[in-house]
This record gives sequence, structure tokens and C-alpha cells, in this order.
Amino acid sequence: GFRCGIVGLPNVGKSTLFNALTETAAAQAANYPFCTIEPNVGNVAVPDPRLYQLAEIAGSAKIIETQLAFVDIAGLVRGASKGEGLGNQFLGNIREVDAIVHVLRCFEDGDVTHVEGKVDPIADAETVETELMLSDLESLEKRVPAFIKKGQQGDKEAKIAASVLGQTLELLREGKPARLTKPKDDEEARVFSQAQLLTAKPVLYVCNVEESNAANGNAHSQRVFEKAAAEGAQAVVVSAAIEAEIATMPTEDRGEFLSELGLSETGLARVIRAGYALLDLLTFFTVGPKEARAWTVHRGAKAPNAAGEIHSDFERGFIRAETIAFADYIACKGEAGARESGKLRAEGKEYVVQDGDVMLFRFNV
Ligand code: GDP
Repeated sequence: GFRCGIVGLPNVGKSTLFNALTETAAAQAANYPFCTIEPNVGNVAVPDPRLYQLAEIAGSAKIIETQLAFVDIAGLVRGASKGEGLGNQFLGNIREVDAIVHVLRCFEDGDVTHVEGKVDPIADAETVETELMLSDLESLEKRVPAFIKKGQQGDKEAKIAASVLGQTLELLREGKPARLTKPKDDEEARVFSQAQLLTAKPVLYVCNVEESNAANGNAHSQRVFEKAAAEGAQAVVVSAAIEAEIATMPTEDRGEFLSELGLSETGLARVIRAGYALLDLLTFFTVGPKEARAWTVHRGAKAPNAAGEIHSDFERGFIRAETIAFADYIACKGEAGARESGKLRAEGKEYVVQDGDVMLFRFNV
């Protein structure tokens, strides 16, 4: 599955947000640093109205949403790259996620200690980013000279690595993140992605604001949005406190509570959607009388990769995919109608899956 790591300085609201996200109390929020020691993983259903429409047409007995995993990553403080706090563990946990959800404190509350003394989300973001860049810099300062040497000895792979990661090293030395690296070709892109650099991962900034600012944000979150725009990153406004409250409410009361606050949906829905966009994922569906189910693949995945999400046998024995676009499935009122109207396509190994495709896989066992 795909994983988003929730990071940020202590006391910015990570645990509160994570708890709300997973609707569990597994990670206890408390007003002191390091309260979340072990990384906690929560699977979150991705709400998708299309799935419910499909299930209704097919009369599916069961609905299964696709899931995104959120990992609550503990204990980043200034100096983490030098092993301060839970530094090394923290950096190792980040290496394993596909994208970073960076929570920034944008709420003023004298009762909640700020580890850096005052509310300044831009400075906080830079503190975290600096630690990540230092970690990448240290790792490449060791690896790049070795790649250069091996490349000179005729190792092709090392030559590619020396070229692309050499570029990254220059960027890091200038205080810029690895994600600004421009690989020259597919080979360089592959080697770059295998290097698993922390600052190569996509980032979503989550501005944690007071309840009263939940609808429109505040001056702090405004600055974060400007920073995100300049970096090509994403940002959302959330009030973790509100989300925590909603998580404990019966579903039928949530709508009214949200509209009283001027909100059309939960912040969590926005975080999940942004996380999905961040990872460049798309959804396809399998639909039948037993169940309607949403599945996740990377944009650009081909039909056999999609089949492999369901079962590795489906990928190995792949013959073809019978595919109906979501809009066609709705317009033709289901599979039989789509087949009659010629909207059911037989697609082969090279077919690139489109968001919303309803798919049925034919395979050899
Ligand atoms: P973490 O260390 O980043 O995981 O932060 P926590 O989620 O444990 O939150 C630290 C403290 O800030 C707790 O006492 C929370 O109740 C409080 N807190 C979190 N979000 C908000 C918020 O939106 N507004 C206010 N006033 N307090 C919050």
C-alpha cells in the first residue's frame, strides 16, 4: 500500500490529527514533547462517491473503499540529523514513506508549549527541512565520491548515479532540497528514485489552526500557502481540535456541526484527498453483485500492474482486461448495458489504466 508520513516539531498537533484520522486513541496526545515514541500506522478509507454510485447500480452487497496508510512519525527536533532526540529513528521512519504530511502549528495557545518559543510556521518548516537536507547531504557526501570512482573504473550504473546524484549534492550544498533535481533521462530518474532521499519526497503542509479559523485560515496559514506555492508543494488548512471532536461524533451529527463552523467537509477528507494527489495515484474499480471495490495504482500503471494489486496470479497469468470508463458505466446503467452499447473494451498488456476505470481481468491460472 501507499504510505504518508505525518511529521512536524513536537506539540504542533500531529498526534491529535493522527488520532482523528484513524479514529483511534492509539497515539495519546499530551502536552509534552516525545509523547509519540513508536511510529503508529493507521489505515484510512479514501472516500469516493463514485464507488457508492457503482455499487448502487450493480446492487453490490458489500462496499470496500481503497485505503491510504498514515504513519505518525515521532520526535523531530532541531539536531535530529546529528542524532538529537529520536533523530536517527525519525529519519529512518521517513525513508520508508511515499510522501510527507508536514504539520505546522498555526494556532496560538499559551497553554500549549512551543518547543521553539513562539508560533512561526515558516521557521518551523525550515527547521524540519534543514534536518532532512542535512541528512541527505551527509549521505551523498559519502556516496557520490564512491560512485565517481566506480564510474571511472567503467561501472555504468555508478556513472549514472555519479551524474544525477552529483547534481543533487550540488543542490543540497546550496541549501536546496533533492526534489529540485532534474534527471536527464529515464535511467537517471530510476537511479534517483532508488536513492530514497528524504527531501525528494513530495510534501503536503497541513496548517493546524484554531477552531475559529478553520474555514478561512489565518495570517500564519497564509504564509504557509505562499511558501507552498513557491515550492510547488501543496497545503491545506485544518483544525486538529475540531477534527478530534468530529471523530467522536455519531456520523449523522457531523454535517450540521460542520456547517455551523462554515465547513463543507471535514479537514480529514481534504488531507486524504491531498495525500492521494500528492502521491500521483489513481483509482480503478471492480464491481459485481458480491462487492464493489476501489483499488489504487500509480498514474501510468498498465493493466497487468492493476491486476497485480488484486492478486499476483492475476498479473502473472494476465490475458486481457475488460474495461468500462466510469461515465460509460453510469450512462449505460451497468455492465450489461455497456456491453450492448459497445462501451466495454478489451484491453491488453500495454493499456494504461485511467482514473475511474471499471475493470474485469481475464487470466490463465
Ligand atoms: P504532537 O506533539 O505534534 O503530536 O502534538 P499533539 O497532537 O500531542 O498536541 C500537543 C498539544 O496541543 C495537545 O495538548 C493538544 O491538545 C494541543 N492542540 C493540538 N491541536 C490543537 C489546536 O488546533 N488548537 C489548540 N488550541 N490546541 C491544540
